[in-house]
Amino acid sequence: MTAIETVTATPLGGPSLPQERRLVTSIPGPRSHELLARKAAAVAAGVGHTAPIEAVAAGGGVIVDADGNSLIDLGSGIAVTSLGNAHPKVVEAVQAQVAQFTHTCFMVSPYESYVAVAEALNRITPGDHVKKSALFNSGAEAVENAIKIARKHTKKQAVVAFDHGYHGRTNLTMALTAKAMPYKSGFGPFASEIYRAPLSYPYRDGLTGPEAAKKAISIIEKQVGADNLAAVIIEPIQGEGGFIVPADGFLNAIVDWCRANDVVFIADEIQTGFARTGAMFASDRFGIVPDLITTAKGIAGGLPLAAVTGRAEIMDAAHTGGLGGTYGGNPIACAAALAAIEAFETEGLIERANEVGEILVGRLRDLQAQDPRIGDVRGHGAMIAAEFVDSTTGEPDAALTSAVAKACIAQGVIVLTCGTYGNVIRFLPPLTIPDALLHEGIDVVAAALAAA
Ligand SMILES: *Cc1c(COP(=O)(O)O)cnc(C)c1O
Repeated sequence: MTAIETVTATPLGGPSLPQERRLVTSIPGPRSHELLARKAAAVAAGVGHTAPIEAVAAGGGVIVDADGNSLIDLGSGIAVTSLGNAHPKVVEAVQAQVAQFTHTCFMVSPYESYVAVAEALNRITPGDHVKKSALFNSGAEAVENAIKIARKHTKKQAVVAFDHGYHGRTNLTMALTAKAMPYKSGFGPFASEIYRAPLSYPYRDGLTGPEAAKKAISIIEKQVGADNLAAVIIEPIQGEGGFIVPADGFLNAIVDWCRANDVVFIADEIQTGFARTGAMFASDRFGIVPDLITTAKGIAGGLPLAAVTGRAEIMDAAHTGGLGGTYGGNPIACAAALAAIEAFETEGLIERANEVGEILVGRLRDLQAQDPRIGDVRGHGAMIAAEFVDSTTGEPDAALTSAVAKACIAQGVIVLTCGTYGNVIRFLPPLTIPDALLHEGIDVVAAALAAA
């Protein structure tokens, strides 16, 4: 425990834990094992976990468990701790705010930090049109509100989401989410007036961006009709669906069609936002300007906050009192977000995301050249994935993927899987991870793959 008690803040954020992979027990060790037994008895079975450990400290690129193991973190708590854990600016802002006041409810007694977060989001999100924002607690809640706003603005009801899309676990967002297991099975009935269009998935559909867009638009026109359609919602790079990067021109064609047909284009940048893809937002990379954008995950250095930001005339469609929530835009989360956004803008993190991406893609492509079970390596910035396939048939290989991921965790490297077919390992390390640790993490993945 001494290593944990003596931690201090570092310029890169997070406690100055030794940046090393260190296994002193098998995973899970005895202390973690004890907590997992209590979890099984006390926590609903539906709440799963990836790494069987009891986390007690985290920073830079490591998570330390109760048994003294230090694991390399290649998941950032699902793209949240891009700034590392406990970035000093975030810690300072949170400590100051918690001592000042914890809550008034912005809808009862407004405070400055909420307005400042809205101003910052209006400034940094794509497009130089006049924008407004509203703040919420979670990504799913932001998506729900983006749909509410789009319906109110267009006076239409239908919403199109895409194959492989993930938008959350609440009722409306389950309907938007594509994958049944584990997100939807047994949880219906789902919200109505949700339709699904085919995505551009270059590795599997072989279509160019414009071809894939033509196919999607034809289905939307024939099966839904622009006259009924309030919004199209899409992740510019799909997250849970497998880090699928659409072919060039796909998103642009969909945006153009939406604009010509009075349909609100919503970019769900909850996973891709805040420097993750090597741009402040993935939309910037593709040269698209969404009407509305949803953000969460990386927004506030680990504190729960989410937002909808977009064209002022659309955002203002909802009547007063129609949007909000008790905790939405909590002052502590807002203080954290302001500190986080400042860090993203001033600490070279966009450049760092691109460096991390170059290392990941370079190493994974080298592995792919020697191992045909890696069917595809793709992504942008520090959001990179490897898709695993049967080397003879090209079919998705979920068993291999899960075996590799489990072996990595047992060896002290936390990796996350994803993908409709469960055959993708996604790499989204904290941007504060040292290069050496990133290389070591990939070495472990390579060894696990060779042994599988
Ligand atoms: C995680 C995620 C959500 C849901 O966010 P929560 O905060 O878990 O509700 C929605 N959309 C995308 C793209 C996500 O990655």
